[in-house]
Amino acid sequence: TVRVRFAPSPTGPLHIGGVRTALFNYLFAKKHNGTFILRVEDTDQNRYVEGAEDYIVKALNWCNIPFDEGPGKNEKFGPYRQSERKHLYKQYADKLVASGNAYYAFDTSEDLDAHRKNHEAEGKTFIYNWHNRLKLSNSLSMSADELKAKLQSGDDYVIRFKSPQDQTLHLTDIIRGEMTIDTNVLDDKVLFKSDGMPTYHLANIVDDHLMEITHVIRGEEWLPSLALHYQLYDAFGWEKPEFAHLPLILKPTGKGKLSKRDGDKLGFPVFPLLWTDPETQEVSRGYKEDGYFPEAMVNFLAFLGWNPGTEQEIFTLEELTQAFELERVNKSGARFDPDKIKWFNHHYMQEQNNDELAELFKASRLELKDIDVNYVVLVVGLVKERATFVNDLWDLSSFFFQSPKQYDEKSFAKIVNNDSRELMSELTQMLNNISDFTTENIQTEVKSWIGKKEVGFGKVMQPLRLALVGAMQGPDVFEIIFMIGKTQSVERIKNLIE
Ligand code: GLU
Repeated sequence: TVRVRFAPSPTGPLHIGGVRTALFNYLFAKKHNGTFILRVEDTDQNRYVEGAEDYIVKALNWCNIPFDEGPGKNEKFGPYRQSERKHLYKQYADKLVASGNAYYAFDTSEDLDAHRKNHEAEGKTFIYNWHNRLKLSNSLSMSADELKAKLQSGDDYVIRFKSPQDQTLHLTDIIRGEMTIDTNVLDDKVLFKSDGMPTYHLANIVDDHLMEITHVIRGEEWLPSLALHYQLYDAFGWEKPEFAHLPLILKPTGKGKLSKRDGDKLGFPVFPLLWTDPETQEVSRGYKEDGYFPEAMVNFLAFLGWNPGTEQEIFTLEELTQAFELERVNKSGARFDPDKIKWFNHHYMQEQNNDELAELFKASRLELKDIDVNYVVLVVGLVKERATFVNDLWDLSSFFFQSPKQYDEKSFAKIVNNDSRELMSELTQMLNNISDFTTENIQTEVKSWIGKKEVGFGKVMQPLRLALVGAMQGPDVFEIIFMIGKTQSVERIKNLIE
């Protein structure tokens, strides 16, 4: 059975790329009736950020892609925070040392800097591997006695993987196919640090193995680590999961990787939820708080690197789960288009229930505090077609709640004159005489009155709209008259012409 994991490091708020990785893991798990796991990779104590884990969980929940197993939930393979699994890793590092696949290294960071500088001076790059490991301070370059003495003296050491010389590795990725790597270019990566913590590589492989992960789905930035990960599985004698590396998310221009600065520059968020940095108190915008629906976010993110192979663009989470295939994920980068997520939001705005929209709308405007919610529901139904966000609703509908504060100047100059004043004045009397004040009746009566007057339809409808709305926009005029009522309509017409 399929078991996948989303394994973020809590070093800050989860950006949009992280949510996309989580989503693809979720979709793959659900498609195969598998399990979606959250594992918190917090072994780098220096980069730990307060509140980041909580943010990740909230973001997944908001997107409706909760994890099945993880911190505090179905802890069958727990704990799910690597910091709480600390005691586990050393024995695995030791195993690799015992089997000759890893070794102790005592070089200080100053030593390594010096080596790097010396190499640079000769126009070469320093790589810690078979090239020069025998010239460095490690268990491969010293006698057994020397090593023993070093270890006993309590000198700081790390454990490095011993990357083999002159081998060709064959790697397979579900999205990218077959790749070959010459091991001579690989460096001996640190697996275990002097602070007693494993590095990402060791902890990641040990946990994927212990948690019985079947598929590793992660961002392209981890592709360079794949060769080491393959070698680690082999060195342990463990079966490998399958791998799928998701394409980069590119700037709206298509050139380069999307960054937070692109969002700041062009005015769109790169985080799902609002985030306040605990140190600087700097606030970053979030899609949720900016008025996006989670359905829009999910539908949009699904298309960042994947497509169903058909023309269909609108997908519920359930439909995505059915349609999703890792084989249909692209290798090339996916351009981030902030207008496209707006387009999705407009679509999902139409799908929202008017009762719920009315509640959100009411909560967003003080002017609506005392207005009957049933009235707000009707208004929402009339104007939402033109709204992308709940926040658009007020501009589209304020005239249902209050008379226009001013008139569009150009329209006023063009439309309001002696003729139209005369017509509007007669119209008020006419409206007053309609006894059964329904939209239909109002429409029939006004139209037949216009017919009898033998003036163009626009001669009446334009000043009428201007009087009611203050501008030449809005839904059907008769609908507006019915909604705001006879008295209010007549008053607004009088306001225009007096
Ligand atoms: N902790 C890594 C990250 O932050 C996980 C990479 C992986 O999925 O292997 O992305």
